[in-house]
Amino acid sequence: MSAVRFDANLNTERPTFVTHLECGLTGERYEADTVHNLSRAGRPLLVRYDLDGVRRTLTKEALAARPLDLWRYRELLPVRRVADIVSLGEAVTPLVPLPRLSARLGGGELLVKDEGRLPTGSFKARGLVMAVSMAKAFGLPHLAMPTNGNAGAALAAYASRAGIRATVFCPADTPEVNVSEIEAQGAAVHRVNGLIDDCGKIVGQGKAEVGWFDVSTLKEPYRIEGKKTMGLELAEQLGWDLPDVIFYPTGGGTGLIGMWKAFAELEAIGFIGAKRPRMVAVQAAGCAPMVRAWEAGEEHAPRWEDAHTLASGIRVPQAVGDFLILRAVRESGGFAIAVTDDAIQAALDEAAREEGFLLCPEGAATYAAYKQALADGRVGRDERAVLFNCATGLKYPLPPVSRALDRHQPIDWASFR
Ligand SMILES: *Cc1c(COP(=O)(O)O)cnc(C)c1O
Repeated sequence: MSAVRFDANLNTERPTFVTHLECGLTGERYEADTVHNLSRAGRPLLVRYDLDGVRRTLTKEALAARPLDLWRYRELLPVRRVADIVSLGEAVTPLVPLPRLSARLGGGELLVKDEGRLPTGSFKARGLVMAVSMAKAFGLPHLAMPTNGNAGAALAAYASRAGIRATVFCPADTPEVNVSEIEAQGAAVHRVNGLIDDCGKIVGQGKAEVGWFDVSTLKEPYRIEGKKTMGLELAEQLGWDLPDVIFYPTGGGTGLIGMWKAFAELEAIGFIGAKRPRMVAVQAAGCAPMVRAWEAGEEHAPRWEDAHTLASGIRVPQAVGDFLILRAVRESGGFAIAVTDDAIQAALDEAAREEGFLLCPEGAATYAAYKQALADGRVGRDERAVLFNCATGLKYPLPPVSRALDRHQPIDWASFR
């Protein structure tokens, strides 16, 4: 049982093991427990732990007895004191099978990790609950970020919860529901006539002018630690046996990088062996910088011009952690794949109609990519695949329905038979 009020994960002090931070590109060391954005090389900082210490302290059995939320992995998380935890009930998300679709495709076991169950309806909650908890620990008074919608909503919710001010910038065509939820949850949101990286520039410029702290994807070290819990959960849910392949809808790539980090840490503490899933970075054909770089064998991914896709969460023309995404995909033996908006829409309709599972467009992109990869042989018919549905489908515009019934007219019962 895990009711937030009685959640032992939220009120039991546990040993923490952060030793330092490290530049993801150069390996340069940075001190823990002080405020950081990017490294001196302008690259993401990764949090490092005393994993031998974790290994000696944490057992699978102790973990199994804890309440089912993200904070169960405290020893592998950066927050030192429970007083700084800013929780809205970050439940472990279920792995939902899609048996009908996989049977029809002749594929192996197909599981969806349904991240739409998290607070604010998306997996951005994982990253922002960690970043805002750390901001609280550091006493940061004002946070700012660019967003395609879901990250801004999660920031707004957790910042309000923590009593911290939040300012958010989003592209002008961000889904209406996202803009509204950000404002409703206590942040100030501004529509900008540009894309997410244009919004990011404004946040960067405002650092000196306003003094806010930049919580952009990978520009502070802790969102990745929150997103890492997807990998920890997945491993634990599957009995510490990772799937053959993971399809991840890739924008800034925090989740993909985070899961790859999680698997390395789990191996270092003796919870899993060397087996790894192939990591597949799924992008939209209208915005596929990682796919282009992966295909060209490059380490960095230049900006994708004129980015467009209905899957707004993965409309990210340029990512500061590009090399970390590409590295994880390559090390895992995976690949990067682009799917068209038509394929995304068809996949969304198919899963909703046939499995009763309303994916978000980004989640639908992973299903579309799975179908493509199964057809071209990049995924085997006996392989277990996990798709990430990163937000609830209810946050997105749904097709209008025109069927109506006039109760004052005779009812044509035959039409219901
Ligand atoms: C942010 C987001 C993504 C991309 O996640 P990253 O880890 O930043 O790559 C995918 N789908 C949805 C719905 C999102 O909100």
